[in-house]
Amino acid sequence: MRVSPLHLLSDFDGVWTEPTREMEAVHDTVVGELARLGGHSRARMEELYAGFAQQILGRPQDFGWRIEGRMSSYVDEDFFAMPTAVGQYIDEQPCAESAALRAAVLRAWPEVIQFLDHCYHSTCDRFRALNKHDLAPGAARVLRWMLDHGMTICFATNAPAVKVIDWFAHHGFEVADAREVGPDEAPLRVYGRAGKQWLSEQPESIEVGGRVVQTDRPQYRQILERECPDAVVGDVFSLDLALPAALRAQGLPGGPQAIGLMHMRHTPAWVQAGVGLQPQGWIDWMVPHVTALPRLLAGIEARPRPVPSAGR
Ligand SMILES: [Mg+2]
Repeated sequence: MRVSPLHLLSDFDGVWTEPTREMEAVHDTVVGELARLGGHSRARMEELYAGFAQQILGRPQDFGWRIEGRMSSYVDEDFFAMPTAVGQYIDEQPCAESAALRAAVLRAWPEVIQFLDHCYHSTCDRFRALNKHDLAPGAARVLRWMLDHGMTICFATNAPAVKVIDWFAHHGFEVADAREVGPDEAPLRVYGRAGKQWLSEQPESIEVGGRVVQTDRPQYRQILERECPDAVVGDVFSLDLALPAALRAQGLPGGPQAIGLMHMRHTPAWVQAGVGLQPQGWIDWMVPHVTALPRLLAGIEARPRPVPSAGR
């Protein structure tokens, strides 16, 4: 055992970035493409989309990131999930308008979800090509403060590693690829395409505020066990925090001592019900903004942890 620097494992989008602009770009693409395929005016399509979104938010437990029939994350906790949820809604065709749109999409695409994936990925690629750095205000200052205080930070994100590497490079930070560089070899590292959404064949879950949240996430678990973070921060409870919280509750490797959720405008009540002291509470910190991290991190100390294996 050794005492290492305080080690933070953090999500990227929604913590270090403000994803509103990228989300609006995806929304524009989806509405524009649906209008074109369905033969609607832009205004009419916006109206239909808003109606679908309202229906979706009326039963959010049924929409979100669905993996093999299980909900990996829910639409009401995830800023980026609404276009996918609208795709699911259209696929279910609960009304004449959604049925007509489904037929229109399927004339051009084999499945609605493929159409949505295309809209999402093409927009995000274009967004990254146009916006070389779109960090939240103060994010670079926070990172500098953490490094100056001897902390290490590892990002685990579903975005490609190059997004994190390039955006921080613009601010003069060198972020290493965590699949190539070990925990002790660089203070800033990133796991891109971290696969936090992928579930296993042995379902495990916790209940938070009345919602069932899946915790068997083998790819993410491997990262947590390798990194042994002191704190984990994210903006989507199911994807970022449910597994570390479950590991901690069971006293298993990879469970951190502190778990922080970004407090967004849309953070739903069922997630907020998970805030509280252990053992009942899953979340310790509601983080209003990335600039609040130094104050929170200053309140905890690094624990002794096993010397990590190279594990490449
Ligand atoms: Mg995020």
